[in-house]
Amino acid sequence: MTANGRRHRVILDCDGVLSDFVGGAIEVFADLTGHRYRHEDFKKWELSDTVGARYKAAFYERCRRPGWCANLQAYEGAREFVDALRRRAEVYVVTSPLPGAVSWMHERTEWLTQLFDFDAKHVVHTSAKHLIEADAFLDDKPEHVEDWIMAHPRGTGVVLARPYNAHARTIRVPDYATALVYLLQPNH
Ligand SMILES: [Mg+2]
Repeated sequence: MTANGRRHRVILDCDGVLSDFVGGAIEVFADLTGHRYRHEDFKKWELSDTVGARYKAAFYERCRRPGWCANLQAYEGAREFVDALRRRAEVYVVTSPLPGAVSWMHERTEWLTQLFDFDAKHVVHTSAKHLIEADAFLDDKPEHVEDWIMAHPRGTGVVLARPYNAHARTIRVPDYATALVYLLQPNH
């Protein structure tokens, strides 16, 4: 419980936190370039910056196709992480839709329902994540976490470490176990 009597509330990003967006991108880039990149090759936020800007449009065109979002893999340990959070908190996913992908939001909600037992009420589709009220927030995009902390200075904003977010200036945790510690700590 929080000081105001409601359950501790945690919001999670999906891509890069629960769903392996880069893994899906690796398949697309393998198809487009003939080269199979590894997760650790992507050290910049914009994945096509690593592969070559000329592939950017074709990459996003693939991502927008129906079924691409639905076929992403969950990270190993992601389900157990969400279950551990749920024992102590109300957990919501706040996820940015890919602009121009007509089936993205539907597929994302279904994915979260089937793999993580989220109901639709616990899935928020927006890139304006700073609008969402919570005690703690986990994302792989440093800018989202910074904006959220500005809007919720009493909350705990945390970046989950990925090779492409080493520039984070906020708390950056290496794994789910460490994320749990920060996300579940009582608010100051
Ligand atoms: Mg993300």
